[in-house]
Amino acid sequence: MSNENEKSLEKLRHSAAHILAQAVKRLYPEVKLAIGPSTDTGFYYDFDREISFTPEDLGLIQEEMKKIVKENLPITCKEITKEEALTSFTTSKDIYKLELLEAIPEGDKITIFEQGEFADLCKGPHMEKTGQVRNFKLLKLAGAYWRGKETNQMLQRIYGTAFFDKKELKEYLRLLEEAKKRDHRKIGKELGYFIFDEQVGAGLPIWLPKGAKLLSMIEAYDTKKHEESGYKEVRSPHLGLVDLWKTSGHYYHYLDTMFPPMERDNQTFMVKPMNCPFHVSVYKAGLRSYRDLPIRYFELGKVYRYEKSGVLHGLLRVRSFTQDDAHIFCSAEQLEQELNSIREFSVNLFKDFGFTDLEIYVSIRDKEHSDAGKYIGDTKEWDLIEKEFISIVERMGIPYQIDPGEAKFYGPAIDIKLRDALGRLWQCTTIQIDFNLPTKFGLTYIGEDGEAHVPFMLHTAALGSMERFIAILLENYAGNLPLWISPEQVRIIPICDENIPYSKEICNTLNEVGIRTSVDEGSERMNAKIRKGEIEKIPYLFIIGKNEQEEEKVSVRKRHRKNLGSMTLDEIKLRLLEEIEKKVND
Ligand SMILES: [Zn+2]
Ligand SMILES: [Zn+2]
Repeated sequence: MSNENEKSLEKLRHSAAHILAQAVKRLYPEVKLAIGPSTDTGFYYDFDREISFTPEDLGLIQEEMKKIVKENLPITCKEITKEEALTSFTTSKDIYKLELLEAIPEGDKITIFEQGEFADLCKGPHMEKTGQVRNFKLLKLAGAYWRGKETNQMLQRIYGTAFFDKKELKEYLRLLEEAKKRDHRKIGKELGYFIFDEQVGAGLPIWLPKGAKLLSMIEAYDTKKHEESGYKEVRSPHLGLVDLWKTSGHYYHYLDTMFPPMERDNQTFMVKPMNCPFHVSVYKAGLRSYRDLPIRYFELGKVYRYEKSGVLHGLLRVRSFTQDDAHIFCSAEQLEQELNSIREFSVNLFKDFGFTDLEIYVSIRDKEHSDAGKYIGDTKEWDLIEKEFISIVERMGIPYQIDPGEAKFYGPAIDIKLRDALGRLWQCTTIQIDFNLPTKFGLTYIGEDGEAHVPFMLHTAALGSMERFIAILLENYAGNLPLWISPEQVRIIPICDENIPYSKEICNTLNEVGIRTSVDEGSERMNAKIRKGEIEKIPYLFIIGKNEQEEEKVSVRKRHRKNLGSMTLDEIKLRLLEEIEKKVND
């Protein structure tokens, strides 16, 4: 979408948020208004009301919004003084607006936007008339703390979306429905992949046998690919002394996200939110020369981050997860080559999992905070590296976008996002440059000139978080994983007990060549077993009865395709091995 379009969509949705607030005020005058911005996909407004809104209320509010649209009220902007604003919002007892007002520095311009009897403290911009907001829909209710702080008042958030085009709205709503059906939390439960146990704690996933199988297969594949590309696997502990985190800067820039320190025998430990300092230790364990560079370390590193309970979301946002984390130490001359090969590595890896629609972002600082201690290191150095980074991506000759504010505290990044079957973008790969850690930890290598030089350090995770990547896979495929990563690839269904020994024979033959197969020896009837296999989304079901046994064949049912007829074991074996080898995803 062009910038212009995005801007006007923002305007439309922000105006929809105002109409929502106006409708709520008309229906429930006692409600206090907090804030109501537009978002990437729509808009919301936060309300303070003692009684909870119900889904029926949403229907009423939506109707009232339609009326306001029909009234076609002009939306006008008015500049007022802070005093006038204070008086006005004190009279209306709008405590949240008053708090927002207090935060506005003296002398700053204050504007309110009015439509009919409704006025809101707002910077705008807005549509000209309420009648222009024709295609909108309220979507859901959620709780949200005032200003996102857990110690603040809990508010009720009403979400909605709006589009200029009716068809676009309809398509968006269809995708939302589809996304609901594909929710990985639902699929993960149905397929018995993972759970969250209250007794264990929120955001701490527990992998059940089938999910653990899936996880370890992906990890093994990922590890193999890394090794083929010159990465050396390393392992590190889950915690380290607090001084380690102070030296790395995490203690100063990342503390909010870290679990609190633990003390024992006058020592303080902290659980790792990242693996980086440990890989620095690996580098430091030997004397390095320019001949050794680039050095690439890789680890499936479990990290722990204290995400607020409000943002936890299935496997997408958790408190413990595994990164396919890698760190590359190289010279300045090798930087461009390394960035290029990391990008290619990720692109190829995604292709194997069926993702080919990728977008590249260059994450830089947001200029407003560039000096405010949000970022470590020298501003001039940042400027230089950001420029260099952008020109490297420019030379890659691939389309990219700039993402201000998404840089890490230690350096800018190249982020790769993939588009799934529903058109949603997911950030997975991140490639970050770090000009902080090598200096902080005194890393050097001996150059050709015999002198000590500081290496560049790149942080990268290809798939990103394994947990998150599995969530994306499950949603993308609606649980119908490609054959090569299905935890159970073939299930054999014997029609009666006499067929069990022959079924087991076939099962063993397939398992011996690495095709993950099991036999359903349960007492249910054949049709029930077939249904069960389909619900569990097993790619292939083999039916074995008297005829199959006599002819030494199997009846093959492929997921979605129904019956493939009877085949000899060799025929089907070759077919499966080829599908696995080619990573077919139908
Ligand atoms: Zn506004
Ligand atoms: Zn790192």
